[in-house]
Amino acid sequence: MSDVIIVGGGISGVCAAWEMARAGLDVRLFEAGSLAAMASGRTQGGVRQSGRDPAELPLARAAVRRWQSLAAELGEDVEYRQGGNLRVARSDDEVPRIQAMVNEQRALGLELEYLDDRADLRALAPWLSEEVRAASFCPTDGQANPVRAVNAFARAAGSAGATIDLQEPVRAVHFEDGRVRGVVTRHGLVEAPWVVLAAGIHTPELLAPLGLHFPLEIHHVAVLQTVPVPHRMDQVFGTAAGDGSGRQQVDGRLRVTSGVQPWFLAGGSWSDDDVLPAAGTVAAVVERASRVIRDFDRVPLARVWGGLIDKTPDALPVLDAPRAVPGLVVAAGFSGHGFALGPVTGEILRDLCLGEEPDFDLAPFRLSRFNSAMASHDLELLG
Ligand SMILES: Cc1cc2nc3c(=O)[nH]c(=O)nc-3n(C[C@H](O)[C@H](O)[C@H](O)COP(=O)(O)OP(=O)(O)OC[C@H]3O[C@@H](n4cnc5c(N)ncnc54)[C@H](O)[C@@H]3O)c2cc1C
Repeated sequence: MSDVIIVGGGISGVCAAWEMARAGLDVRLFEAGSLAAMASGRTQGGVRQSGRDPAELPLARAAVRRWQSLAAELGEDVEYRQGGNLRVARSDDEVPRIQAMVNEQRALGLELEYLDDRADLRALAPWLSEEVRAASFCPTDGQANPVRAVNAFARAAGSAGATIDLQEPVRAVHFEDGRVRGVVTRHGLVEAPWVVLAAGIHTPELLAPLGLHFPLEIHHVAVLQTVPVPHRMDQVFGTAAGDGSGRQQVDGRLRVTSGVQPWFLAGGSWSDDDVLPAAGTVAAVVERASRVIRDFDRVPLARVWGGLIDKTPDALPVLDAPRAVPGLVVAAGFSGHGFALGPVTGEILRDLCLGEEPDFDLAPFRLSRFNSAMASHDLELLG
């Protein structure tokens, strides 16, 4: 019997496995496919504090501190680069949004500059197109290689004693005599007193049989990657309207995204082809990216893919051990910004399983916030 079973081999699951294994827990992680098969392998890979909800900002700031020393901690280069993040306004209408964001986040203590002088903008980021009118700049934001990061955390967890089972879908969480007792796989019951659900968009399916409602909406994002080009961008950018982002990877490829679009997922399973963006979406992303990155539309595209986002109604994640189901911990609903948080998500999940007080106020991340009936449901089950 393990101490903890983790469901999901994305950034949240592998970071939790690493934290728990190095804290001395016997950890087993089940991943339905391969590591980083879903959002964590398709993400932009921005490591950003700016633009975060005030509730999430302390987690993001702590995560950035961890990212700075991860290469040493994991013994691998995860291509973390702290080149800063620009949130750009492409029209005069978008400028007030940037100003408001800068004022709000500075008041919360984040180091953030506001730039509306074209010469200053071009001096900082010569790759910006002439259309960019203003931008916020957070010098401590950055980027990393998501697939490398997930694999590095998984290797570190394995070296610290965690067992990682790939191609092993969990069918259900096993609840008996008032608490979680493990999970059911195709091999039957695998026992553990704690189960962590970090299964991304598939988390609600595992919660529903336990009587827990998790109102996730699925959203789609298109990602375009070019051939490698000479170094031109240090910063990651996002648009004021949230309809695009971009960065240059360490290998020279430019990687840009669309905004999010609601998505209907028919049936439980899906393939890469099911989420490929339509040609019209690709053209729109190229057009929008070219309004921010000078001459983007001249660079050959090498790859296009789609990713799905687990969006909650308030765009904040659930990081919780719901009282209704003792032994259960939930980490999902990251709403498009969970990659950067991964190292801190791992710490929080470890603390929840050890019954220790996490370093953060987790009240905004409780599952019960979506269902006022759940508070009484908790009490009924406990009583
Ligand atoms: C295109 C795109 C761009 C993004 N950009 C950013 C960004 O710039 N910065 C940022 O911070 N975040 C970004 N995000 C969001 C970020 O990628 C996610 O929030 C994060 O990767 C979520 O990680 P996760 O481990 O919680 O979930 P996932 O990565 O979705 O992992 C869940 C895992 O659980 C497995 N699983 C599901 N069901 C089961 C089961 N029954 N049994 C076993 N395993 C199961 C899946 O196969 C999957 O591997 C982006 C997301 C996308 C799609």
